[in-house]
Amino acid sequence: MKEELKLRIYGDPVLREKSTPVEKFDEDLKETIKKMAELMYKVKGLGLAANQVGIPKRFFIMDIKQKEGTPELEVYINPEILNAEGYTEYEEGCLSIPGYYAKVERYAKLYIRAYDLEGKPFEKELTGLQAIAFQHEYDHIEGILFVDRISPLKKELFKRWWKKREKELVGK
Ligand SMILES: [Zn+2]
Repeated sequence: MKEELKLRIYGDPVLREKSTPVEKFDEDLKETIKKMAELMYKVKGLGLAANQVGIPKRFFIMDIKQKEGTPELEVYINPEILNAEGYTEYEEGCLSIPGYYAKVERYAKLYIRAYDLEGKPFEKELTGLQAIAFQHEYDHIEGILFVDRISPLKKELFKRWWKKREKELVGK
């Protein structure tokens, strides 16, 4: 993969695709993840899923520590949520929906399984922002966006807001 990764914006059909599992843990995958990380840090995102750069495969990256100045890249390939409990709420945003923020209800604690870059499985317990970000990114690979999880009224307002916003983005 030589070309630059391009961030896909709300309305792009790839964001609605249910992603398929990664089968090859090769150099291509490592290279893609490296580029995704560069893009995520450049735009100061909390996380980035593969279909947000046009690749409908089941993996995503996140970094909840960069804000504190101690970046720690997390890579989740073919992730699964094994157990979830409790509820929490957080004001979320998304790189694919620039400028929009809304409170979303999420599980407070997760127990997950995923694969690392070498294809080795690992399990982990996630809480707090890490659990929230994981669920946001996991939704992406299922073709779900955080605006799907807000109330019908808010969704109507969002759609109206987005129509104007979209013109600004395209006009650039
Ligand atoms: Zn997002």
